[in-house]
Order: sequence, then structure tokens, then C-alpha cells
Amino acid sequence: MPDGGSFIGGQSFPALVLNADFRPLSYFPLSIWSWQDAVKAVFLDRVSVLNEYEAEVHSPTVSMRLPSVIALKEYIPSARRPAFTRFNVFLRDHFACQYCGDHRPTHDLTFDHVIPRSRGGRTTWENVCTACGPCNLRKGNRLPRECNMLPRQTPRQPTSWELQENGRAFPPNYLHESWRDYLYWDSELES
Ligand SMILES: [Zn+2]
Repeated sequence: MPDGGSFIGGQSFPALVLNADFRPLSYFPLSIWSWQDAVKAVFLDRVSVLNEYEAEVHSPTVSMRLPSVIALKEYIPSARRPAFTRFNVFLRDHFACQYCGDHRPTHDLTFDHVIPRSRGGRTTWENVCTACGPCNLRKGNRLPRECNMLPRQTPRQPTSWELQENGRAFPPNYLHESWRDYLYWDSELES
């Protein structure tokens, strides 16, 4: 396998990973692999290289340019039921408080039980929603009808496809120019 110790120079050269249909495996977090994993997958013939960095990696016998975009040769179907995690609840709700509509960074968001746990509410997709701190505090242990605070969208279990679509609205901080075609093509077609 190539030895890449010498060429890195502070850059990490991540590869964007597309499914076999040339859409990102995941939009948010964006599916990216380290160059080491990407190169390994190329050698194992599991991916096609669609674009490359200028940087090269050398072994005693081979030199190759580092892949910047790769596509899996075998299609991976997404899980039908997404994991019930705080992150996925925020993603379902577009990182917006479901009471006042404010968009906030993750660390300012909380996880609100629509029917409070103290009133028998359970921790399920159907009973939790994203709330900002002030709204969560204001709602307290009251039922929605007692405080006239109803989530803007009735909480429910999203499909993996819906989460994927929501994630498209959140481009990552690092974007190599060769990734853009694969990330924004379909949204530009729609507008
Ligand atoms: Zn709020």
C-alpha cells in the first residue's frame, strides 16, 4: 500500500463518497472518507474514481493521484427506519425550534417532550421535538393545550429519504470544488 507520510503538508484530502447512483451516501453529515480509506477502496476495486486532487501518493511500485470523488460500485440501500437520535430529531425539524421557529446551532437546541414525561409522555419520534432553551423553559411541564404551545409540525417518524433531503440544506464547511457537481446539481435543476 502507498506510503503517504511525506506529501500531506497539513492537508487531509478527504474524498467525497457517492453511492452507486452518484448521489452522496449521506448529505448531513456529508459522506467523506480519509484519503487512506479512499485509496484502500480503490485498490480493492470497490469504488470508481470520478475526480482527483493534484496531490499524488507513492509506493515503491505505484503512484496515483488522490481521489477527491469516488462512487461505490455496489449500491447501498439506505436503512428504512432512521435511528432515533437527538441529531436526527434536530435534522427532521431542520434545526429549528418547533415553537417559535428560530433556527439555532445544535448546542442551543433542546429536546422537548410535547406531552411532558411527568404527565405520561414517552420518548418517541411522535412525542419529542426540537425546542430552543427559552421555549422549552416557557413550556415547562404543561400540556400543549394548557400553554397554547403546539409544535409547528406534528412530530412523527421521518423516513431516511426525508432526513437525507433535509440534510441537503446544510452544506459542510469544507467543500472541494470537484464535489460541487455531485452536491448541488439536483437542487439547481429544481430552481
Ligand atoms: Zn423557541
